Amino acid sequence: MNFSKSEQLHTEALEHIVGGVNSPSRSFKAVGGGSPVAMERAKGAYFWDVDGNQYIDYLAAYGPIITGHAHPHITKAIQHAAETGILYGTPTKHEVTFAKMLKEAMPAMEKVRFTNSGTEAVMTTIRVARAFTGRDKIIKFAGCYHGHSDLVLVAAGSGPATLGTPDSAGVTKNIASEVITVPFNEIEPFKEALAKWGDEIAGVLVEPIVGNFGIVEPVPGFLEEINKHAHDAGALVIYDEVITAFRFMYGGAQDLLNVKPDLTAMGKIIGGGLPIGAYGGRVDIMEKIAPLGPAYQAGTMAGNPASIQAGIACLEVLKEEGVYDEMDRLGEILERGILEAAAKHGVTITINRLKGALTIYFTDQKVVNYDQAEATDGEIFAKFFKLMLEQGINLAPSKYEAWFLTTAHTEDDITKTLEAVDHAFKQL
Ligand code: PMP
Repeated sequence: MNFSKSEQLHTEALEHIVGGVNSPSRSFKAVGGGSPVAMERAKGAYFWDVDGNQYIDYLAAYGPIITGHAHPHITKAIQHAAETGILYGTPTKHEVTFAKMLKEAMPAMEKVRFTNSGTEAVMTTIRVARAFTGRDKIIKFAGCYHGHSDLVLVAAGSGPATLGTPDSAGVTKNIASEVITVPFNEIEPFKEALAKWGDEIAGVLVEPIVGNFGIVEPVPGFLEEINKHAHDAGALVIYDEVITAFRFMYGGAQDLLNVKPDLTAMGKIIGGGLPIGAYGGRVDIMEKIAPLGPAYQAGTMAGNPASIQAGIACLEVLKEEGVYDEMDRLGEILERGILEAAAKHGVTITINRLKGALTIYFTDQKVVNYDQAEATDGEIFAKFFKLMLEQGINLAPSKYEAWFLTTAHTEDDITKTLEAVDHAFKQL
């Protein structure tokens, strides 16, 4: 494959855009450097780059593109928004419709508020938890990523971990001292943290199914224990469902696992590809937010008609019978084929898969926490990533990310992908 136009563009981008990218995870730093491929066009499960190369896409824009690129139903909704006014700064009927849809899908969200990103949604759930409890500290889990607000850039996951800066410069020691980080999937350290700081903890923030050091499910009982001990200590439980909401089923990880948080943050899929975030939860907590209460959160673009209508259209597609079963079926074929190819070529891997999302770790160990994900082989991953890219398979350039299937992927795409995997493994 020829990437010369991408390379040229990256050289130019480096002169004008810091690091040549608008989000660090898009750079190829974590896979040994090089020019990230610049895409020009996307449709369904496919991408075409500026050099005219075609790819099967498993990045799905880091999660949001669950219906495939340029889905006609979503495109129509965006066109309608463009033609009827892109931004009003007033209430609209669409945001009420959408809030009702989210509540129906996730009943723990008794009241909802829309934001422009997952970062904002999570950031505000923390503020609201503090306003409600009158306490300052939060507990989070190592390797979970919750956006780039100050408080959660402490031992954060995929992006920062990949770049080797779990604590961002510019986050003050005072702020970091308000965050307690404990390992995911281990209840004892969590209980110890509560025993030590229990009456200072406003909230416990967790990705109920992790997406940021690969796909990692909670061990049975883990989330239930978090709920119990957090509530006993008077702290709120906040689920960050920015990746997981509508990823594995129509609803959240909370519905799949039958556990209820006090507050939920989401983003990605619910915007159908346009910028969005949302948070919600128990009504008595949500009433702390302005204009009803003293906790402030706002946004010029929040609830904008385009994102909301794209989000409604996206959920309409996801409501259709069988879409999640099909992503699960293709995910299973993909997983099985990758494992077979690994066995054939003597490549050591572990796969974590939940329905249409999976991560390949180059390790012989199980991966249930961040330390285990970190210990997997990044150099082999980097080689694998590039071998796949050269064969027209677009993955995220980090060993900590997931492959995401969409409703647009077909069995034929999986077959082609498995041929590429076979070829890549042969060369590792
Ligand atoms: N929470 C989680 C679990 C995420 O994966 C992300 C983004 N990868 C965020 C929050 C931040 O969302 P955004 O990038 O929309 O600000």
